[in-house]
Formats: sequence, C-alpha cells, structure tokens
Amino acid sequence: MAVKALRGFRDIYGEDWEKFLRIYETFRSTLDLFNFTWIETPILERVALFVRSVGEDTDIVQKQMFAFKDRGGRDVVLRPEGTAGVIRAFVEHGMTPPKRLAYFGPMFRAERPQRGRYRQFYQIGAEFIGYSGYLADVEGILSAYLPLKSLGLNVEVLINTLGSAEAKRRYSQALREYLAGVDDLCEDCKRRRRTNPLRVLDCKVDGHRISPPDILDFVDERERENFNRMMETLREWGVPVRRDRNLVRGLDYYTGVVFEIKSKDLDAAQSTILAGGRYDGLVEDLGGKPTPAFGWAAGVDRIALVYDGRPERKPLYFVVRTSEELREYAFYVLMRLREEGKRADMLHERRSLKAQMRYAHRVGARWVVIVGEEEYERGMYRLKDMETGEESLVAL
Ligand code: ATP
Ligand code: MG
Repeated sequence: MAVKALRGFRDIYGEDWEKFLRIYETFRSTLDLFNFTWIETPILERVALFVRSVGEDTDIVQKQMFAFKDRGGRDVVLRPEGTAGVIRAFVEHGMTPPKRLAYFGPMFRAERPQRGRYRQFYQIGAEFIGYSGYLADVEGILSAYLPLKSLGLNVEVLINTLGSAEAKRRYSQALREYLAGVDDLCEDCKRRRRTNPLRVLDCKVDGHRISPPDILDFVDERERENFNRMMETLREWGVPVRRDRNLVRGLDYYTGVVFEIKSKDLDAAQSTILAGGRYDGLVEDLGGKPTPAFGWAAGVDRIALVYDGRPERKPLYFVVRTSEELREYAFYVLMRLREEGKRADMLHERRSLKAQMRYAHRVGARWVVIVGEEEYERGMYRLKDMETGEESLVAL
C-alpha cells in the first residue's frame, strides 16, 4: 500500500507553490525598502525557548507543540512560531540593536486541521529589535500592511494596546475582578481568569458574552496620547485601522500595541492573515539586555487562499525535432535558448513529431522551435508562433 502524508500536513506544488513564492517575493521587495535583512533559524529548538517566550499558559505551549525527546534525551520541539528563535539568535550572537530581521519558513502546531489551519504552515515575519516609540509602531504596522496592499488584498487592521507593564498589571487585576462575576466561561477560562485573565479575552470557544473593562481606561495620559497619534498617523498613510478593545493575541510576550490584519474574504475563524505587536520584555527574558522590540508574522497559507494573482512566467519555447538523429542538435538549441534568457523545454523520450507538437500545445508553449535536417545543416531553427501559426527561420 502507498504511504500517505500525515494528517494536517500537505504537499504544495505547481501553481499553489508558485503563489507562495510570489507572496514571499512581494513581502521581500517591500521589506527590502524598509532596510530589512533576512535570517534563517533552525526548525528544531529547545522546548524551554517557547515556554519562556510564548508562555506556559498559552494554547500553543499547552496543546499545540510537536515536542519530543531527541536521541540525547533533550526536550525539543518543531518551532510553533518564529519570533522566539530570531530573538534567541539575536542574543546568542551578541547582535547589536537596532536590527531589522525578517524570516520565511514553516511553523508547526498540532491543531485540528481545517481550511486555513494546518499542522505545518508558513510564516513570513519581521522583527524590529531596538525600536521604541509610537512612530516605530506605525512603521511596524505599515511594513505589514503595504505588502498585503501590493497583493491587492481586501483587509482591515484591528489594533489594541496591552499598555505598559504597570497598566497591564492594573488592568489584569480589574479583569480578574470582573471575570470572577461571570458564569458563562469555558473550563479553561475558569482557570485562566485567576492565572492569566488576559487570555480569557482571546478564547476561541463560542458563547462567551462578556463586556470587560477597557484597557485605555488604565493607561496613563502619555500612553493614551501615543496610541491615538499612532492611529491617526496610520490613517494618514491610508491604512484601514479600527480599534478592537478585546484584541489581546495568544502569546504572552506582547506588551503595548498589538494588531491583527483580517481578510474580508475568509471565514471569521481563520480570517486573521497577519498578527503582531510590541514585545519590549522578550529580549531580556531570553537572556539579553533590556531592548524594546516590535514584530509581526503573516500566515502565507491563508494569504494564498485569498490572493488570486496568477503566477507570471516567461513565455515557453518548446523544442521539437523531426527525427531522432537530431536529438543532440535539439538539445544544443534548447541550451542556447536558455542562455538567451528564455524559458525552454523539450522531450527526451522518442516521440513522433506530431506527438511532440501535441505535447508542446498541451503544456502551453507560446513558441515551438522546430529543428529538421535542413535547419541543422544551416545552423538555424524554425520558430512557430502558436497563436498565429506563422513560421520563420532563425539563425543561432
Ligand atoms: P489563530 O487565532 O488563527 O489561531 P494565532 O493567534 O494562533 O492565530 P499567530 O500565532 O499570531 O496566530 O500567527 C500569525 C498568523 O499565522 C496567523 O494570523 C495565521 O494567519 C497564521 N497561522 C497561525 N496558525 C496557523 C495554522 N495552524 N495554519 C495556518 N496558518 C496559521
Ligand atoms: Mg492559533
């Protein structure tokens, strides 16, 4: 019996993978303008990295990690997200801030597979390490929004703040008190309302009907001013922003501004195509010096679901031969075409001229390059335009 891929893991090929690469190229060119450099970190990391960064009491660490013991008995895990590894690398190599690091690669989470939710999925992410202030938040959100705009997506940017450490503490306390009087909570949230009340706002279980206090009532005047300035500046740059006071994100390392970009063309449960925010404590938590930072990650699989841009490819030249004796000459012509920068192909198996022509048509060749005895003698080929049927002789 044939061996199949694991549930929730998929093969992405043909035009689908071309789309992924196009999305990557679009982000890459925008992030290049933002002066980013790219980093590749290992897919396998120590479990402790995510417990210390993403947080012990999060869905990711509690239920979604592909964790196991390696041959040396170490607790390791297929990375569930990208920020922790990038910051680990930043600290480990003694990099100096400010630093702009971007990445693209697979992440792994043991979730129930469904449309837009896979166990191996791809993220493009960007981290601004050593940047503080509301303009840095503006720049961070612009760097996330602009590539999506270039891709022509129909999106909305939801924004909130978790406040400074001090405001967050006071808000958590108020939230704890508020939630103590709410009955309509799932089992997880009944536990979380004591240990990690902010997590309750992020619960994906339906049916919670709560109207908690607003964090903006707990931040100081300057923070509120900066938040409003950030929103205003983003509007001035044409970003469709909206405040969502219940937005907290599912990872513990966030402090300050958090945001999500949603596609209007996806079901609510998987409509977030990009998410991020400020994480001023993480570098220190992972052993570095206190360093303010801001970052985001885009879900490429979900973007691919709503991006309908056709991959652009060069027109195809297909080389056919009138007899098997001309196979080497055909190959020579093929390679010369490629040297000229043309996308070109030919069949290697023995096929009649008619079968070769049929195949060229089937694979969408724009031009057929015919080599026969006469063309070989003269160092030429015959070029057939598949749209008009016209033929002409071309010298090599
Ligand atoms: P969700 O609320 O949809 O579970 P999340 O809060 O877990 O998302 P993040 O960890 O912030 O998401 O990851 C950022 C982005 O990565 C998400 O907005 C989404 O587009 C994408 N993403 C996260 N998990 C998956 C998955 N299992 N499959 C596909 N894409 C995913
Ligand atoms: Mg999730």
